[in-house]
Amino acid sequence: MLYTSTRDKSVRISAAEAITKGISADGGLFVPAEIPAVSLDFITSLCEKSYVERAVAVLKLFLEEFSEAEIRAYAEGAYLGGKFSSDAIAPLVAVNDRLNILELWHGPTCAFKDMALQILPYLLTGSAKKIHNDKKIIILVATSGDTGKAALEGFRDVDGTGILVFYPVDGVSPMQKLQMTTQQGDNVGVCAIKGNFDDAQSGVKAIFTDADVKKVLADHGYAFSSANSINWGRLVPQIVYYFSAYADMLSLGKIKAGDAINVTVPTGNFGNILAAYYAKRMGLPVNKLICASNANNVLTDFINTGVYDRNRQFYTTISPSMDILISSNLERLLFMLTGEDDAKIRDLFGKLAKDGKYDVGADVAAAVKALFAAGCCDDAATKNTIGSLFAESHYLSDTHTAVAVSVYEDYRKNTGDTTPNVIVSTANPYKFSASVLDAVTKGNYKAADEFAMVEELIAVTGVDAPAQLSSLRGKTPRFTAVCEKSEMQAEVYKMLGIH
Ligand SMILES: *Cc1c(COP(=O)(O)O)cnc(C)c1O
Repeated sequence: MLYTSTRDKSVRISAAEAITKGISADGGLFVPAEIPAVSLDFITSLCEKSYVERAVAVLKLFLEEFSEAEIRAYAEGAYLGGKFSSDAIAPLVAVNDRLNILELWHGPTCAFKDMALQILPYLLTGSAKKIHNDKKIIILVATSGDTGKAALEGFRDVDGTGILVFYPVDGVSPMQKLQMTTQQGDNVGVCAIKGNFDDAQSGVKAIFTDADVKKVLADHGYAFSSANSINWGRLVPQIVYYFSAYADMLSLGKIKAGDAINVTVPTGNFGNILAAYYAKRMGLPVNKLICASNANNVLTDFINTGVYDRNRQFYTTISPSMDILISSNLERLLFMLTGEDDAKIRDLFGKLAKDGKYDVGADVAAAVKALFAAGCCDDAATKNTIGSLFAESHYLSDTHTAVAVSVYEDYRKNTGDTTPNVIVSTANPYKFSASVLDAVTKGNYKAADEFAMVEELIAVTGVDAPAQLSSLRGKTPRFTAVCEKSEMQAEVYKMLGIH
């Protein structure tokens, strides 16, 4: 099983190399050269298995140089030992006859990023060993809020690694900010930038692909890698939970073996929904992939028209982890849908860098539309959905999940498609207490600060807050630096003690 680059398909490297490097030197993303296929028997056999065993079954198909024992040890380290608050790890909750909600936020940081970032440190250090990379691995992260904390928590005090996180100074929720700035560990750093998530991501990408920086780091015994979803090691663990959800739909009697499901995914960088596409390509019976966006609806327009145009207003919304106008992982999808036309990918992403815009052409646009449906909703609709879901079904949803629910309800109404559907739920509601409290009480609440809001939300809903969030109350931040977006490289050198 080898990997290639979306911008140069002559590249052939192992999974361990792809994971260690993070991004290809040509600026492309690593993708499997072939996608493994599974049978219906493989899928039904997952019903009896634990989440760890489901993960072993799926991951080993993509990680051939790793033994099954190694993969099992990684999965056990990531998902067992009390790190997740649900024994199911990724429980599927049947809320009513329409909504089956896949809760991916029972991990240590209360967001779905834990599903991948708890196992990535094992994959990365295991990969580095396999390719005899003896450099200290420096993880650089651009975050819209959740990746940063999940990566910090995954990599803290992991031998042979260090981690630096950049977040947009005004682009994350107070709880997300506090989670990051109070991070413990001896190998961690956090810095705010004066810019939005796209600035942070572009800055990190530029540092990664700068040959001079690479040389300076190598001279100091360091090598970069990425924990963003541009790293294949971030994506591959996400494929697992789509298989897991299908197995749970079978066990709950919601479907029969072989029946198709739809999945609706609250989308930002296109990593989560791309993992669903890989699962479909492997043979999981998935019909429509429904891509849900907030007011930053660049993907909705792209899926509906084939034109990707980031030249538009950027909105700061109540679902900040989806406030993204450059969805990196779309590059992987387009590589596959163009028949691996690396020249076309170079052309399209050159245009994106230069003009902020590209048009994939009629054939690829039709292929996208056959696979995906797309919709978006604004903050008002997001809040309405949180309110009505709680009033009608007593289910408390966070702002990102609510975008997916709203888009799914619209989709179902507009198309009449009643295929059983899985809604992917990406964060615990208490990460966004202000918006969720506002939604549930229709603006009639008293609390003025973040933790008073947590208390009031508990009182109003009877739903418990996770201890790892409520215990942040009163903690003093460790990391208070704020830099210009042009100073990110200098900040990296500073944090590594390079002068
Ligand atoms: C990261 C994130 C998303 C977006 O996921 P992508 O893989 O970037 O599309 C959605 N919701 C939450 C809560 C997130 O943290």
